[in-house]
Amino acid sequence: MNGYDVIILGAGASGLWCALAAARRGRTVAVLDHGPKTARKVRVSGGGMCNFTNLDASPAHYICGNPHFVKSALARLSPWDVVGFLAEDGVTYEERDHGQLFTNEGAGKVAGALTDRCRKAGATILLGRDIRSVAGTGPFIVECGGETLTATKLVIALGGPSWPQIGASNLGFHLARQFGLKTVPTRPGLVPFVFPKSSCQLCADMAGNSLPAAVETNGMRFTDPLLFTHRGISGPAVLQASSHWRENQPVTIDFLPSQPLPDLIEQNRSSNIQLRNLLGRVLPKRLPGLLLPAALAETPTSQVSKRQIRDAEDRIHRFTIVPSGTEGFAKAEVCVGGVDTDQISSKTMEAKSVPGLHVIGETLDVTGHLGGFNLHWAFASGEACGLAL
Ligand SMILES: Cc1cc2nc3c(=O)[nH]c(=O)nc-3n(C[C@H](O)[C@H](O)[C@H](O)COP(=O)(O)OP(=O)(O)OC[C@H]3O[C@@H](n4cnc5c(N)ncnc54)[C@H](O)[C@@H]3O)c2cc1C
Repeated sequence: MNGYDVIILGAGASGLWCALAAARRGRTVAVLDHGPKTARKVRVSGGGMCNFTNLDASPAHYICGNPHFVKSALARLSPWDVVGFLAEDGVTYEERDHGQLFTNEGAGKVAGALTDRCRKAGATILLGRDIRSVAGTGPFIVECGGETLTATKLVIALGGPSWPQIGASNLGFHLARQFGLKTVPTRPGLVPFVFPKSSCQLCADMAGNSLPAAVETNGMRFTDPLLFTHRGISGPAVLQASSHWRENQPVTIDFLPSQPLPDLIEQNRSSNIQLRNLLGRVLPKRLPGLLLPAALAETPTSQVSKRQIRDAEDRIHRFTIVPSGTEGFAKAEVCVGGVDTDQISSKTMEAKSVPGLHVIGETLDVTGHLGGFNLHWAFASGEACGLAL
């Protein structure tokens, strides 16, 4: 048997950050993962450029059953701490819209920096290890790949099930339940919507087109680019909204959020241009013809009645649809739901009912908005836990 102070299950963003913090404090640490490489989600994050944090990493950007839960960990690790951490390895950044920080060097450099630093600090990273069983409550006993490891502390850092194609699984939730912890039901988040068959034509004709839009569901509204796909819609505004959507709920889209339609029509009252062509100047050319009934689309702007304006507003500013679903965990960036945070200390990430057991990262019921908030949470929860170990 190999004995350690700490075993961390999962060599992803949160597990590695936690391992480094604990190893630096002199703990003997083993990090286990079934993958051939560390931090595979980090390596594909941000389209390969890793949106590693956000300058506005505040509680307002997280979905969690207890909105206060994230406060303590976020207060202890600022976006500038993450920037400083990566700068030590020569990773520089570019600031994009909404305070999103991306690397200039690529996501592999971030994964490499985390991994190398852990090893240098003395943590043992064991890859290609199937976790067969976890037992005990101090010492915790982990059977993996023919080996038995023991430790007085166990950290579940197994992420969530999105992108199973790179090794994501539900094991974190199963283990948490094995220790008697409750989980909040999970669903895909930051995921494209699939439209019902009745809207196939709209998708087929518009696929590949993007435009600024406001997408609203369940009382949350996001204004950002929207992209039509062959099966529905995607793009930042849609991905954000998807994390708040529940099955069978309507989604309302404003395709022209920056310009009230009545104003546009009044400004062009003297023109005989057909409404579809007027709208084609401010929207993708084919979209107005697909959204408006033919008679309305072909009405000259000079003749559009008040009732017709209201009708056009309903279709352009308040286009409402009930998606048939989402593209699911295969294409979701995150998992919404997870281990119920009411049972976890927000300062140490330790389970209140199981001393020595900690849960961090995406396995918890904490989901960030799009924009670097999820990796920031993985790092911040890893830091809080690592300092407490
Ligand atoms: C395509 C994509 C792009 C993303 N881009 C961004 C971005 O730019 N910015 C951002 O903030 N967030 C992004 N995210 C989300 C972000 O990557 C995750 O929220 C974050 O990695 C979660 O960290 P974690 O440590 O909790 O889990 P992970 O990083 O997923 O780590 C979990 C680890 O556990 C291991 N594991 C899982 N199951 C088992 C098992 N059964 N046995 C052994 N090991 C197991 C996995 O191999 C993995 O190494 C993206 C996600 C995806 C899928």
